[in-house]
Amino acid sequence: MFCNPIRFHNMNHKLIIISAPSGTGKSTIIGRIIDDPELRLSFSVSTTTRAPREGEQDGVDYYFISEDEFRTHIENDDFVEYEQVYAGRFYGTLKSEIARILDSGRNVILDIDCKGGINVKRLYGDDALAVFIAPPDLETLRRRLENRGTDSAEEIDRRVGKAAEEMRHAKFFDYLVVNDDLDSTVEQVRNLISDHVNDVLEEE
Ligand code: 5GP
Repeated sequence: MFCNPIRFHNMNHKLIIISAPSGTGKSTIIGRIIDDPELRLSFSVSTTTRAPREGEQDGVDYYFISEDEFRTHIENDDFVEYEQVYAGRFYGTLKSEIARILDSGRNVILDIDCKGGINVKRLYGDDALAVFIAPPDLETLRRRLENRGTDSAEEIDRRVGKAAEEMRHAKFFDYLVVNDDLDSTVEQVRNLISDHVNDVLEEE
């Protein structure tokens, strides 16, 4: 769902959108680059109606809220974008979250699904860098989800089915990186972000 654009008077800091089918290694990749001092990144904490997984913390991994609260945010036009990523499970990026990070003088990194990623890219244009991370193939993806051990067999089927559909949207991103080797994927993503951030510095 594409919401009303939010305009920032000073867009010296930029958005980095990372989208990937679930199980592609996106969280690991983000975890490896988020503290790089050169990139000056802060993670955009999304809002979701799904239950926390073991070890997840409210306000760190997500803002975990009820469906009623989520609907109130929709009515109040509080989201930059939101999606029902899986049946009955809503995820959204609050305008206040993006504003909080940009106001603190840092660049925003978003881990959002590919529809959300395309919508944020459309809203922010050249101020956003959209990177799609793809698994080498769907069988590898299924194996990774099984090894991760956080989802039921039914959930894994659902995620693999969705991944096949998501791959069709990759062409709307600025870059596609195939994660067949974690170290080299991290390096490629880091370099893309670094170039984007340094463009900003040159403009300042
Ligand atoms: P998970 O349940 O595995 O944490 O996330 C499921 C999917 O929802 C992932 O692809 C993740 O990137 C996506 N997601 C997380 N936050 C947001 C958000 O704010 N907006 C959208 N559109 N997708 C999100």
